[in-house]
Amino acid sequence: MSRFWSDTVRGLTPYVPGEQPRIEGLVKLNTNECPYAPSEHVVAAIAAQGGEALRLYPDPQSTLLRETLASYHGVTQDQVFVGNGSDEVLAHVFMGLLRHPLPLLHPDISYSFYPVYAKLYGITTREIPLNATFEIEVQDYLNAGPNGGIIFPNPNAPTGVALPRAEVQRLLDGNRDSVVVVDEAYVDFGADSVAPLIAQHPNLLVIRTFSKSRALAGLRVGYALGHPALIEALVRVKDSFNSYPLDRLAQAGAQASVEDESWFRLTCDRIMATRNRLSLALQQRGFEVLPSAANFVFARHPGHRGAHVAAALRQHKVLVRHFSQPARIADFLRISIGTEAQTDTLLAALDVVLNPT
Ligand code: PMP
Repeated sequence: MSRFWSDTVRGLTPYVPGEQPRIEGLVKLNTNECPYAPSEHVVAAIAAQGGEALRLYPDPQSTLLRETLASYHGVTQDQVFVGNGSDEVLAHVFMGLLRHPLPLLHPDISYSFYPVYAKLYGITTREIPLNATFEIEVQDYLNAGPNGGIIFPNPNAPTGVALPRAEVQRLLDGNRDSVVVVDEAYVDFGADSVAPLIAQHPNLLVIRTFSKSRALAGLRVGYALGHPALIEALVRVKDSFNSYPLDRLAQAGAQASVEDESWFRLTCDRIMATRNRLSLALQQRGFEVLPSAANFVFARHPGHRGAHVAAALRQHKVLVRHFSQPARIADFLRISIGTEAQTDTLLAALDVVLNPT
């Protein structure tokens, strides 16, 4: 604590890197990384940038990558913004588009960073509860009265439950006066993207990441798609903080990733197949498993406390994620989809933990 700290800084809690332990041999199913290596083309493109190229500053506008992403999504370059992971993109969104006197609406069970960014930028928020089956209830947002923006992940995190595109469409049709941010970090594992709706909805911003379905969490690349005016707001914020958001390696690696569609399809399919296997295996062991459209499942066992199961699995060197707040999800575990072998290890450890001799 320092007398030089502002009230905002006093209220912030530093990120505790407990979810990234430096221990060998862990089965790491706690932060939704991809269990497979990225495309070989990504590795080659990064290696090709080595040596002499690193002497020079990167392209401040990430032009080639933005062009590639624009044609991938069938939009124009001025509808694409890139940043150091979607967390940085989100930070710019909060700074540049969501600072509004009216409250920002978000689900009560959702990505934990949203309230953190809101606090940092002095944005008031209002939590809209998920319904009894842990779904986002669009009508509750439409009934909430005027708002300064709406943000939610789709599929939601940490539940993994997806909102159908028609429901997002209904939200957009009924909410035209504020920005709607749909965080599609996990969309590639079977959910509907609303990226095609940006043409008709100038208030829609879609956020994507390379961290999950493209196995590039370590490269830190995320992006936003939206009307050029929304993207322009993000560019203005970016230029004030750091006009070189992506380094050379990140630009080259991300571009090679978008160009390798077959690696991408194969990897998403493998993860979805393992997710189906894991969901079934958990149900057979008595777990309630929410229907997941993400690269993780959210599950609870009626006979075992979530905190206890997570701690016991850790003893077996298997890391899963447990949230003690809010109370409604305190007995759930969020388990990232690993390889088939990691899933075998997880299930064997669970059998010991659930049935101690
Ligand atoms: N949005 C959601 C919903 C997430 O779960 C995450 C990952 N923790 C992110 C955004 C940020 O991912 P990244 O910064 O790696 O792109």
